[in-house]
Amino acid sequence: MELKNRIQQIKKKRSGYGEILDFYQKVKEAQAKVKASLKIDPIHLKKEWKGLLAKEGFSLIQKEDFPLDIESSIKLFQTLCQIGKDANPHMAEQVRKINEILANKRIDLKKLLKEGVKEQRIEQIADEFGLDKKVFPFLIQSSTKPSIEAGMEQLRSELDPETWLKGYCPVCGSLPSLSLLKEETGKRYLLCSYCGYQWRIDRLFCPFCNNKEQESLHYLYAEGEEPYRIDLCDKCHQHIKTIDFRIIGESEPSLEDLATLHLDILATQKGYKRPVPNPWIT
Ligand SMILES: [Zn+2]
Ligand SMILES: [Zn+2]
Repeated sequence: MELKNRIQQIKKKRSGYGEILDFYQKVKEAQAKVKASLKIDPIHLKKEWKGLLAKEGFSLIQKEDFPLDIESSIKLFQTLCQIGKDANPHMAEQVRKINEILANKRIDLKKLLKEGVKEQRIEQIADEFGLDKKVFPFLIQSSTKPSIEAGMEQLRSELDPETWLKGYCPVCGSLPSLSLLKEETGKRYLLCSYCGYQWRIDRLFCPFCNNKEQESLHYLYAEGEEPYRIDLCDKCHQHIKTIDFRIIGESEPSLEDLATLHLDILATQKGYKRPVPNPWIT
Protein backbone atom coordinates (compact mmCIF):
# COMPACT_ATOMS: atom_id res chain seq x y z
CA MET A 1 0.00 0.00 0.00
CA GLU A 2 1.17 3.49 -0.74
CA LEU A 3 2.60 5.31 2.26
CA LYS A 4 0.08 8.10 2.37
CA ASN A 5 -2.86 5.70 2.11
CA ARG A 6 -1.54 3.60 4.94
CA ILE A 7 -1.06 6.77 7.02
CA GLN A 8 -4.68 7.75 6.36
CA GLN A 9 -5.79 4.29 7.40
CA ILE A 10 -3.86 4.43 10.67
CA LYS A 11 -5.04 7.95 11.44
CA LYS A 12 -8.66 6.84 11.24
CA LYS A 13 -8.00 4.10 13.76
CA ARG A 14 -5.71 6.01 16.13
CA SER A 15 -6.73 9.63 16.42
CA GLY A 16 -4.03 10.44 18.98
CA TYR A 17 -1.32 9.95 16.37
CA GLY A 18 -2.56 12.58 13.90
CA GLU A 19 0.08 15.27 14.40
CA ILE A 20 3.08 12.97 14.52
CA LEU A 21 1.90 11.06 11.46
CA ASP A 22 1.53 14.27 9.44
CA PHE A 23 5.08 15.17 10.39
CA TYR A 24 6.29 11.66 9.53
CA GLN A 25 4.67 11.78 6.09
CA LYS A 26 6.27 15.12 5.23
CA VAL A 27 9.73 14.00 6.33
CA LYS A 28 9.46 10.72 4.42
CA GLU A 29 8.32 12.52 1.28
CA ALA A 30 11.22 14.98 1.53
CA GLN A 31 13.68 12.11 1.96
CA ALA A 32 12.21 10.20 -0.99
CA LYS A 33 12.56 13.28 -3.20
CA VAL A 34 16.25 13.57 -2.35
CA LYS A 35 16.87 9.90 -3.00
CA ALA A 36 16.02 10.21 -6.66
CA SER A 37 18.93 12.58 -7.43
CA LEU A 38 21.49 11.41 -4.90
CA LYS A 39 25.17 11.35 -5.82
CA ILE A 40 27.30 9.13 -3.62
CA ASP A 41 30.71 7.57 -4.20
CA PRO A 42 30.93 3.83 -4.75
CA ILE A 43 32.00 1.81 -1.71
CA HIS A 44 35.08 -0.28 -2.40
CA LEU A 45 35.38 -3.50 -0.49
CA LYS A 46 38.59 -5.45 -0.37
CA LYS A 47 37.52 -8.83 -1.69
CA GLU A 48 40.10 -10.70 0.35
CA TRP A 49 38.83 -9.10 3.56
CA LYS A 50 35.19 -9.80 2.95
CA GLY A 51 35.17 -13.50 3.76
CA LEU A 52 37.41 -13.09 6.77
CA LEU A 53 35.36 -10.28 8.27
CA ALA A 54 32.15 -12.29 8.00
CA LYS A 55 33.82 -15.37 9.45
CA GLU A 56 35.06 -13.43 12.46
CA GLY A 57 31.67 -11.82 12.99
CA PHE A 58 32.58 -8.31 11.80
CA SER A 59 30.30 -6.19 9.70
CA LEU A 60 31.31 -5.28 6.11
CA ILE A 61 31.89 -1.62 6.93
CA GLN A 62 31.62 0.78 9.87
CA LYS A 63 29.01 3.49 10.30
CA GLU A 64 31.50 6.23 9.42
CA ASP A 65 32.44 4.50 6.14
CA PHE A 66 29.16 5.33 4.39
CA PRO A 67 29.76 7.93 1.66
CA LEU A 68 27.44 10.93 1.99
CA ASP A 69 26.07 13.36 -0.55
CA ILE A 70 26.75 16.40 1.63
CA GLU A 71 25.17 18.99 -0.67
CA SER A 72 21.86 17.15 -0.80
CA SER A 73 22.06 16.45 2.96
CA ILE A 74 22.37 20.17 3.63
CA LYS A 75 19.40 20.91 1.41
CA LEU A 76 17.40 18.19 3.09
CA PHE A 77 18.34 19.56 6.51
CA GLN A 78 16.89 22.92 5.48
CA THR A 79 13.72 21.29 4.16
CA LEU A 80 13.31 19.29 7.38
CA CYS A 81 13.79 22.45 9.45
CA GLN A 82 10.97 24.05 7.47
CA ILE A 83 8.74 21.02 8.05
CA GLY A 84 9.60 21.10 11.75
CA LYS A 85 8.74 24.77 11.95
CA ASP A 86 5.18 24.03 10.84
CA ALA A 87 4.81 20.86 12.92
CA ASN A 88 4.29 22.18 16.44
CA PRO A 89 5.38 25.08 18.70
CA HIS A 90 8.20 23.12 20.35
CA MET A 91 9.78 22.16 17.02
CA ALA A 92 9.25 25.68 15.71
CA GLU A 93 11.17 27.09 18.67
CA GLN A 94 13.97 24.57 18.18
CA VAL A 95 14.27 25.40 14.48
CA ARG A 96 14.35 29.11 15.28
CA LYS A 97 17.27 28.52 17.68
CA ILE A 98 19.09 26.27 15.19
CA ASN A 99 18.80 28.85 12.41
CA GLU A 100 20.13 31.52 14.74
CA ILE A 101 23.15 29.39 15.64
CA LEU A 102 23.80 28.58 11.97
CA ALA A 103 23.44 32.21 10.93
CA ASN A 104 26.08 33.19 13.49
CA LYS A 105 28.31 30.41 12.13
CA ARG A 106 28.67 28.88 15.54
CA ILE A 107 28.12 25.41 14.09
CA ASP A 108 29.67 24.03 10.90
CA LEU A 109 26.72 22.13 9.45
CA LYS A 110 28.78 20.31 6.83
CA LYS A 111 31.16 18.96 9.43
CA LEU A 112 28.33 18.05 11.72
CA LEU A 113 26.49 16.09 9.05
CA LYS A 114 29.66 14.09 8.47
CA GLU A 115 29.88 13.49 12.20
CA GLY A 116 26.22 12.50 12.37
CA VAL A 117 27.25 8.92 13.00
CA LYS A 118 28.53 9.85 16.42
CA GLU A 119 25.25 10.20 18.23
CA GLN A 120 26.85 11.26 21.48
CA ARG A 121 28.76 14.03 19.76
CA ILE A 122 25.57 15.46 18.28
CA GLU A 123 23.80 15.22 21.62
CA GLN A 124 26.71 16.96 23.26
CA ILE A 125 26.55 19.82 20.76
CA ALA A 126 22.80 20.10 21.25
CA ASP A 127 23.45 20.36 24.96
CA GLU A 128 26.18 22.97 24.54
CA PHE A 129 23.89 25.22 22.53
CA GLY A 130 20.85 24.69 24.72
CA LEU A 131 19.00 22.70 22.07
CA ASP A 132 16.62 19.80 22.58
CA LYS A 133 18.68 16.62 22.77
CA LYS A 134 16.24 14.72 20.58
CA VAL A 135 15.09 17.22 17.95
CA PHE A 136 18.53 18.34 16.78
CA PRO A 137 20.04 14.82 16.42
CA PHE A 138 16.85 13.74 14.67
CA LEU A 139 17.17 16.53 12.09
CA ILE A 140 20.85 15.80 11.50
CA GLN A 141 20.41 12.05 11.15
CA SER A 142 17.30 12.28 9.00
CA SER A 143 19.24 14.50 6.59
CA THR A 144 21.90 11.88 5.88
CA LYS A 145 19.53 8.91 5.93
CA PRO A 146 19.00 8.82 2.12
CA SER A 147 22.77 8.64 1.53
CA ILE A 148 23.19 5.88 4.09
CA GLU A 149 20.35 3.81 2.69
CA ALA A 150 21.79 4.23 -0.81
CA GLY A 151 25.15 2.99 0.49
CA MET A 152 23.47 -0.03 2.01
CA GLU A 153 21.75 -0.77 -1.32
CA GLN A 154 25.18 -0.83 -2.95
CA LEU A 155 26.33 -3.51 -0.53
CA ARG A 156 23.19 -5.61 -0.50
CA SER A 157 24.41 -8.06 -3.13
CA GLU A 158 27.57 -8.78 -1.11
CA LEU A 159 25.63 -10.52 1.63
CA ASP A 160 23.25 -13.38 2.21
CA PRO A 161 20.56 -12.13 4.61
CA GLU A 162 19.61 -15.68 5.59
CA THR A 163 22.89 -16.85 7.12
CA TRP A 164 24.27 -14.11 9.39
CA LEU A 165 21.91 -14.86 12.33
CA LYS A 166 23.52 -12.37 14.70
CA GLY A 167 21.97 -9.58 16.77
CA TYR A 168 23.77 -6.77 14.92
CA CYS A 169 23.79 -5.65 11.29
CA PRO A 170 26.11 -7.53 8.87
CA VAL A 171 26.50 -4.36 6.79
CA CYS A 172 27.37 -1.74 9.42
CA GLY A 173 27.38 -3.43 12.82
CA SER A 174 24.51 -1.39 14.30
CA LEU A 175 21.78 -2.70 16.56
CA PRO A 176 18.32 -3.46 15.18
CA SER A 177 15.42 -1.10 15.74
CA LEU A 178 12.70 -3.64 14.98
CA SER A 179 12.03 -7.28 14.27
CA LEU A 180 9.76 -8.39 11.42
CA LEU A 181 7.91 -11.60 10.69
CA LYS A 182 7.59 -12.38 7.00
CA GLU A 183 6.62 -15.05 4.52
CA GLU A 184 4.10 -17.76 5.19
CA THR A 185 6.31 -19.62 7.61
CA GLY A 186 6.90 -16.50 9.68
CA LYS A 187 10.63 -16.16 9.20
CA ARG A 188 11.98 -13.55 11.57
CA TYR A 189 14.19 -10.68 10.41
CA LEU A 190 15.88 -7.77 12.14
CA LEU A 191 15.90 -4.25 10.70
CA CYS A 192 19.09 -2.23 11.09
CA SER A 193 18.49 1.03 12.93
CA TYR A 194 21.21 2.77 10.95
CA CYS A 195 21.33 1.55 7.34
CA GLY A 196 17.98 -0.22 6.97
CA TYR A 197 19.36 -3.64 6.01
CA GLN A 198 17.26 -6.67 7.01
CA TRP A 199 18.72 -10.02 8.00
CA ARG A 200 17.32 -13.26 9.32
CA ILE A 201 17.49 -14.49 12.91
CA ASP A 202 15.98 -17.30 14.98
CA ARG A 203 12.41 -16.93 16.16
CA LEU A 204 13.48 -17.39 19.77
CA PHE A 205 16.40 -15.06 20.22
CA CYS A 206 17.21 -11.80 22.01
CA PRO A 207 19.41 -9.76 19.65
CA PHE A 208 20.80 -7.70 22.52
CA CYS A 209 22.23 -10.47 24.72
CA ASN A 210 21.96 -13.54 22.44
CA ASN A 211 19.61 -15.25 24.87
CA LYS A 212 17.86 -18.28 23.34
CA GLU A 213 16.21 -19.75 26.42
CA GLN A 214 12.48 -20.12 26.12
CA GLU A 215 11.74 -19.56 29.82
CA SER A 216 13.28 -16.08 29.90
CA LEU A 217 11.87 -14.86 26.58
CA HIS A 218 8.24 -13.79 26.37
CA TYR A 219 6.10 -11.13 24.79
CA LEU A 220 3.18 -8.80 25.30
CA TYR A 221 0.61 -7.36 22.94
CA ALA A 222 -2.59 -5.38 23.17
CA GLU A 223 -6.01 -6.94 22.63
CA GLY A 224 -7.02 -6.50 18.98
CA GLU A 225 -3.50 -5.56 17.91
CA GLU A 226 -2.04 -8.99 17.36
CA PRO A 227 0.25 -8.01 14.44
CA TYR A 228 2.34 -5.98 16.89
CA ARG A 229 4.09 -7.52 19.81
CA ILE A 230 6.84 -6.57 22.17
CA ASP A 231 9.46 -9.24 22.72
CA LEU A 232 10.80 -9.08 26.25
CA CYS A 233 14.04 -10.61 27.50
CA ASP A 234 14.37 -11.37 31.19
CA LYS A 235 18.10 -11.85 30.95
CA CYS A 236 19.03 -8.32 29.81
CA HIS A 237 15.68 -6.64 30.59
CA GLN A 238 15.47 -5.12 27.14
CA HIS A 239 12.79 -5.32 24.50
CA ILE A 240 12.29 -5.18 20.75
CA LYS A 241 9.06 -4.69 18.85
CA THR A 242 8.08 -7.40 16.40
CA ILE A 243 5.70 -6.60 13.56
CA ASP A 244 3.93 -9.40 11.77
CA PHE A 245 3.96 -8.39 8.12
CA ARG A 246 2.04 -11.53 7.21
CA ILE A 247 -1.02 -9.91 8.79
CA ILE A 248 -0.66 -6.23 7.93
CA GLY A 249 0.84 -6.72 4.46
CA GLU A 250 3.56 -4.61 2.88
CA SER A 251 4.14 -1.42 4.81
CA GLU A 252 6.92 0.83 6.02
CA PRO A 253 8.34 -0.65 9.26
CA SER A 254 9.17 2.74 10.78
CA LEU A 255 5.58 3.86 10.23
CA GLU A 256 4.13 0.79 11.93
CA ASP A 257 6.58 1.32 14.78
CA LEU A 258 5.60 4.95 15.19
CA ALA A 259 1.90 4.11 15.18
CA THR A 260 2.33 1.69 18.10
CA LEU A 261 4.31 3.78 20.55
CA HIS A 262 1.78 2.90 23.24
CA LEU A 263 3.23 -0.63 23.29
CA ASP A 264 6.72 0.69 23.98
CA ILE A 265 5.32 2.70 26.87
CA LEU A 266 3.77 -0.49 28.27
CA ALA A 267 7.09 -2.31 28.06
CA THR A 268 8.91 0.60 29.71
CA GLN A 269 6.38 0.61 32.53
CA LYS A 270 7.16 -3.05 33.09
CA GLY A 271 10.85 -2.19 33.45
CA TYR A 272 12.20 -3.19 30.05
CA LYS A 273 14.47 -0.84 28.13
CA ARG A 274 14.46 -0.30 24.37
CA PRO A 275 18.14 -0.15 23.30
CA VAL A 276 17.38 1.78 20.12
CA PRO A 277 14.61 4.24 20.98
CA ASN A 278 12.13 5.26 18.33
CA PRO A 279 13.76 8.37 16.80
CA TRP A 280 10.42 10.00 16.04
CA ILE A 281 9.58 10.69 19.66
CA THR A 282 10.69 14.28 19.98
ZN1 LIG B 1 23.25 -1.56 9.18
ZN1 LIG C 1 18.34 -10.14 26.18
